[in-house]
Amino acid sequence: MANITRFEALRTAAQRQRVAVAVPEELTSAFFASQVFGEQAMQTYLSPPIYKQIRHIMDTNLPLSRELADLVADGMRKWAQAQGVTHFAHWFQPLTGRTAEKHDSFFTLDHNGRAIEEFLGDALVQQEPDGSSFPGGGLRTTFEARGYTAWDPTSPAFILAVGEAKTLCIPTIFVTYGGHSLDYKLPLLKSQGFLEQYAVKVCQLFDPQVNNVFITLGWEQEYFLLDEALFEARIDLAMTGRTLVGKKAAKGQQLDDHYFGTIPRRVYAFMRDLEIEAHKLGIPVRTRHNEVAPNQYELAPIYESLNVAIDHNQLLMDLMDRIGLRHHLRVLLHEKPFAGVNGSGKHNNWSLATNTGKNLLSPGKNPGKNLQFLTFFVTTIKAVHRYADLLRASVASASNDHRLGANEAPPAIISVFIGEALTRILDQIEQGVAISEEGLKQIMNLVDSIPNLEQDNTDRNRTSPFAFTGNKFEVRMVGSSMNCAAPMTVLNMMVGKQLKDFCAEYDALIAEGRQKESAILSILKRYITESKAIRFEGDGYSDAWRDEAAARGLGNYGDTPAALDAYTTDWAKALFAESKVLSEEELHAHHEVRLESYILQLQIEARTLKEIAINHIAPAAIKYQNELAQNILQLKQLGLEQSHYEAQQQWLGYISENIQLLYKDIEAMSATRKAAADLPSRAHAQAYCEQLKPLMASLRDTVDALENLVADEYWPLPKYRELFISR
Ligand code: ADP
Ligand code: MG
Repeated sequence: MANITRFEALRTAAQRQRVAVAVPEELTSAFFASQVFGEQAMQTYLSPPIYKQIRHIMDTNLPLSRELADLVADGMRKWAQAQGVTHFAHWFQPLTGRTAEKHDSFFTLDHNGRAIEEFLGDALVQQEPDGSSFPGGGLRTTFEARGYTAWDPTSPAFILAVGEAKTLCIPTIFVTYGGHSLDYKLPLLKSQGFLEQYAVKVCQLFDPQVNNVFITLGWEQEYFLLDEALFEARIDLAMTGRTLVGKKAAKGQQLDDHYFGTIPRRVYAFMRDLEIEAHKLGIPVRTRHNEVAPNQYELAPIYESLNVAIDHNQLLMDLMDRIGLRHHLRVLLHEKPFAGVNGSGKHNNWSLATNTGKNLLSPGKNPGKNLQFLTFFVTTIKAVHRYADLLRASVASASNDHRLGANEAPPAIISVFIGEALTRILDQIEQGVAISEEGLKQIMNLVDSIPNLEQDNTDRNRTSPFAFTGNKFEVRMVGSSMNCAAPMTVLNMMVGKQLKDFCAEYDALIAEGRQKESAILSILKRYITESKAIRFEGDGYSDAWRDEAAARGLGNYGDTPAALDAYTTDWAKALFAESKVLSEEELHAHHEVRLESYILQLQIEARTLKEIAINHIAPAAIKYQNELAQNILQLKQLGLEQSHYEAQQQWLGYISENIQLLYKDIEAMSATRKAAADLPSRAHAQAYCEQLKPLMASLRDTVDALENLVADEYWPLPKYRELFISR
C-alpha cells in the first residue's frame, strides 16, 4: 500500500469496516495458555517421572542431561503436532529491542532417506543461528559470524500461529561464538540469580522457612492506534515510527464523531482479538483502558515472575503488530509518535515474593515481618540512590529522549517517591526513635496503616520516576517500545549488591555482639541518612526541583549519549563484574550497541525528513507558489491596483522564505551528518544530539509553517487532526 496519497488514505480510513473477531465459545479460563507447553501439556505429553525431573530442573535451574532433553523435546513435538505445528524456532531477544526467530521443520530425512518428523534434545537445547545480522557492538568479528541460542527452561515454549503457519517457539538466550552475551535475556537471568541469592539470605534473618525469592513484574503497556492507510500515507511514521513534521492540531481538535463513527468499534474489536490471542499464549492481560492522548490506549496483565513477564511483554508487542494488521490498524509503540500530545511509556511494577507466599514489599500486619519489609524497602531506596545514573542509562534511547523530561512523563532526574506515611517512618528510624522495643512497635503500627494512605498519595504524584505504590515499586521511566529487561537487569543488580552489603554489615555487627534488631535498625538508619537525597515528594516537573536536585547532587541527563556514559564508569564496571551480569568487554559492547542504535535512529530520521522536505513538501509549496504568482500576474494584467493582490504577495513571500529556509536546513543537516560520519561512536552520537537534532527541529518548524500557508488540497501528508481517530 506504499505511496498512497493523503486523500486516498482519508477516504479508505473513513470507509473502513470493523473486522469481526472469532470469539471462542468457552470462557477464557478454558482456553487460557492452550498454546503453551505448560503444566497441563507437560503432564499430558511427558511420563510422570520425566515430568517430575523437568519440573525440578525448571524450579532449580540445574543443568539438563542430553537424555532428558530428548524425552522432553519428543513430548513437546507431539503436543505441538497435535495442534498442527510443523516447525520449531529458537526465539530470542537481540539488542535490537524486539525478538528474533529462526525456523526449522520437524520434518527431516533419517539415515535411510526416509521422511520422518523429529525433534531431538540437541535441537531443543542449542541452535546456531547466523548472528551477523544482529548488533554486536564489536564483540563479533566477521569471520566469527555465528552465534548460539540456548534454551531457557524457566520460560515455557509456546505456539506462534501466523495464518496457516504454526511454529513451536522456544525461549532462548543468545550468545556469540565465543560465549559473550549479545541479548537481553542472559544478563537478566544473571541479575535475577544475583538478587535472589542475597534476598534469600536477608529473608532468612527473619524467616528460616524462606529458601527461594522470586522477582515479580507487572508491566503497563501504552500504545497508539492508527488506521493503516493513514499510517502508510505518512512516510515518517512508516520509516521512523513517529511523525517528524506536522502542525499541532488545535487543542481537543479531532474529527467529528460521525465522520469516523465506526472507528471505536474497530478499536474494541482489535482489543478483544488481542486479548483472546494473548490469553491463548498464556499472557494474563487483564486491564485495558483509554489513555490521555487521542488514540492512545493501555494494556496491563496480572503480574508474573520477572523472566516470564518480560518474555510475555516481548511476545505481546509482536502480537499487537500482527493483530493490528488483521484490523487494518497500526500499533505505534514509539515513545513519542506525535508532538504536542502525550507520549507512551511502560510502567514496570517490581516486587519480590518468597516461596512462602509473602510479598517482601508489602508492609504486612506482623511487626516482626515489618522489619523485614523495612529492610527490603530501605535497601531498595539506598540502591537507587547509589546507582541512579545506571538506572537512568538503562532507559536511555533516542525515542525515549522525547519523553523523559518533557513535562508529561517522569523527569530525567531519578528520584524516589514513597508517600507521607512511610516518609514519617523513615524519619523516625533516622531520629533513633525506633531503636527501642516501644519505638519499633509504634513504627510498625504506622506501617500497618499504609496501604490506605498510600492510595491517596500515589495518585497525587504521577511525576515521580520511581514510586512506591503500596506493595511494589513502580519504575515509570521505561519507554513503551523498550525491552523491560534492560532496566530490570540494572534494578536487580543494584538491589542485589545493596542486600549483599547489608548482609556483610549485619554479620560484622553480630560478630561485635549486637542484638539482631538493633543491628538491622542501625544499618537501616544509616542507609536512610545516606540515601535521603534521592527521596522527593514534590512536583517533578517544576524548575524548582531541577535546581534542588542539582544542589542535592543528583544526575540530570536529558540526552541519551550523556546518560549512557554511566556504563563506562568504574563503579558501573565494578557492579556488573561483581554481580557477574556482564564482563567489562560485554558491557563495552552493550554500550556500543546502544550508541549505535541512537545514531542509526537519528540517521534514519534525518534521511526521512530530507526526503519529506525535498520530495513532498517543497513540490507542494512550489505548486501553490506558482498558483499565487499566476494569480498576481493575471490581476496585474487586468490593470488592478496592488491593493487587490497584496495578500497574495505576502503569502507568496512567506512561502518563498520558507522554501529557502528548507533548503538551508537540509544542506546544514547533510553537512553535519557528513562531518560526524567518521567520528568514534560517542562523539558521533554527541554531534547528532547537539547539532543534528536542533536542525531537524528547525526544519520541522519550517515545514509546519508551510503547512499553515499551502492550500489544503496540495498538502501531501495527512494532517495531525486527520490522524486521530475520534473515540
Ligand atoms: P495501577 O493501575 O494503579 O498502577 P495496579 O494495582 O492496577 O496499579 O497494578 C498495575 C500493575 O502492577 C499490574 O500489572 C499488576 O499486576 C502489577 N502488580 C500488582 N502487584 C504487584 C506485585 N506485587 N509485583 C509486581 N507487580 C505487581
Ligand atoms: Mg501504574
